[in-house]
Amino acid sequence: MREIVLFGRDVLREKCRPLEPGKDDVLLQVLLRDMKRILAGHDGLGLAGPQAGEAVCVFIAGEDTGLPLGGHTVFVNPGIELFGPVIRGEEGCLSFPGVYADVERSQGVRVKAFDEHWAPFTLDITGLGARLVQHEYDHLGGILLVDRMGALKRRLLRNRLRKIREESC
Ligand SMILES: [Zn+2]
Repeated sequence: MREIVLFGRDVLREKCRPLEPGKDDVLLQVLLRDMKRILAGHDGLGLAGPQAGEAVCVFIAGEDTGLPLGGHTVFVNPGIELFGPVIRGEEGCLSFPGVYADVERSQGVRVKAFDEHWAPFTLDITGLGARLVQHEYDHLGGILLVDRMGALKRRLLRNRLRKIREESC
């Protein structure tokens, strides 16, 4: 049974590998089940594969976020293109319990991905949905909230981050 992976564990820093149709179908289905369970049990908008302990290219959005994601909640092997101005906004992350920080993100994102049945789709998303996609996409490259926040904020959160690291090991 997979559980939420906290900051400090190596898998969060790995570069994720793409999933392969056929070969990875069982892994994907079981992983998605676990990811949905983890996300439902926490107060988060989205979750990426490494946060469930698997360095593979998939992330999910919660089913009741109300975000305009075209009805999509599963993003397999995503690619993104950014558009629009850069906007600062607050973000949290289930791998950083209790930590919130302002992060600069593009207002819009075009995401190309596959759903859980390997049907391809393309979406243009703006606003909070675009922020979610950029945050989760970061996870697939081993980039974390702590890398995106300002140096001052990171210093202010030093003790909290150390505590999460200790709890994660
Ligand atoms: Zn996150």
